[in-house]
Amino acid sequence: MADNNECIFCRIARKEVKVEVIEESENFLAFPDANPISEGHTLIIPKKHFANIMDLPSDLGSEIVGLIKRVAEKRIKEGAEGFNLLMNNFEAAGQVILHAHLHLIPRKKGDKIRLKTA
Ligand code: 5GP
Ligand code: ZN
Repeated sequence: MADNNECIFCRIARKEVKVEVIEESENFLAFPDANPISEGHTLIIPKKHFANIMDLPSDLGSEIVGLIKRVAEKRIKEGAEGFNLLMNNFEAAGQVILHAHLHLIPRKKGDKIRLKTA
């Protein structure tokens, strides 16, 4: 596992790598996915390095749900008609960046997007 100095999402969380901040809370940061599946595809990450949801403290649950809703509201105001939440946990499930992250993928009726998992 990449240590915190090497981990790209840790570097983004530390603001060493500049991203457009979509929303932010004490422990989480939301920013655009570099390879969006749809317009507005957003990643939500914990600012601390946790490998996947199994390492994420459960008491941060309500904070992340609040942030998800704020990002979703923004995307809906921009024209999204719905959204998928996707989280790959462990490499076997298609997780490439081993710093926990949740995908928020805005959707429109008939957009023909097919989500692939590993
Ligand atoms: P996963 O680990 O869930 O398979 O996907 C990792 C996601 O992170 C991919 O959708 C990829 O486009 C995105 N990603 C990888 N590196 C970067 C980066 O440096 N900046 C941003 N904004 N997104 C990244
Ligand atoms: Zn990290």
